[in-house]
Amino acid sequence: MNLEKNKENKNENKSEIDIVFISDTHQFHEELILPNKIDILIHSGDFTYKRKKKKNQVKIFNNWLGKLDKEKKIEHKIIIMGNHENWFKYRRMKTKLKWLSNGIYLQNQTYNAYGLTIFGSSHKPRKKYSKLIPNSAQIIAIHAPPKGILDMQYNDKSRGNKTIYDCICDLNKSKKMQRINAFGHNHEGYGIQFSEEANCFFVNSTTNGLPSNIPIWFKAIRENDHFKFFLIQSGCRIDFIERIGRTHKFKRIQNSNLILNQNSNLNQNSNQNLNQNSNSNSNSNQNSNQNSNSNSNSNSNSN
Ligand SMILES: [Zn+2]
Repeated sequence: MNLEKNKENKNENKSEIDIVFISDTHQFHEELILPNKIDILIHSGDFTYKRKKKKNQVKIFNNWLGKLDKEKKIEHKIIIMGNHENWFKYRRMKTKLKWLSNGIYLQNQTYNAYGLTIFGSSHKPRKKYSKLIPNSAQIIAIHAPPKGILDMQYNDKSRGNKTIYDCICDLNKSKKMQRINAFGHNHEGYGIQFSEEANCFFVNSTTNGLPSNIPIWFKAIRENDHFKFFLIQSGCRIDFIERIGRTHKFKRIQNSNLILNQNSNLNQNSNQNLNQNSNSNSNSNQNSNQNSNSNSNSNSNSN
């Protein structure tokens, strides 16, 4: 979708916005269980996987985005590039927009939905990156994790990037409003962590290349000229699928359990959950890590 269309779009003054974060779907997008009502879907990169037939994988992904239009009527579907799409960045922007015609492809650009400013980048930031992110950005999607946050692999090595964390802390100095930094890349780090210093929810929304981690769902509530965020759902579907070693082959396990954290209940009225969620956001990382640890068979070397 052309960003110019966004300018013409008269976004209504919605007071509550449902935002769902996914990433690292690696062609397993069909397996995701998405909430029925989504206003904004944000995919933080790595929608392709195998080295061959990349163009065809983009087409498959774009078709799925189109299907979501019919099934879920999601008004804004934001896509950024992950390291698996690095080849993509050398294509002309016109080509990228054509190939991802059913979504909104961002590459160091901002997008406005319902008065909420979203900045989308790609895999890793370059120097002077902070100047690219506008102060008004409340949601920042970058594929790589910030240093020290949900960035540890099972081998105790960090995949995080210090520049990203510093940039988001700097934003908090100039305009003190809550933010979400959405990312993926480190498949082992799925979860949510709130930083007081950055006044930011850090959301590792990876599905681990597998549909075991469920999409992370926040509700944004309008408060004057900005929004406050409340966690509605995160967690893991353990035993659903197991990755076997380093061969990138997958085996489906029968009788899977769906395990959601205490905030999750798709059938409950989300308004009832808001207070509970705002108090329990600090626990969400703990819950998510517990869940993702239980998925420790899913070792990966090519995030
Ligand atoms: Zn990945």
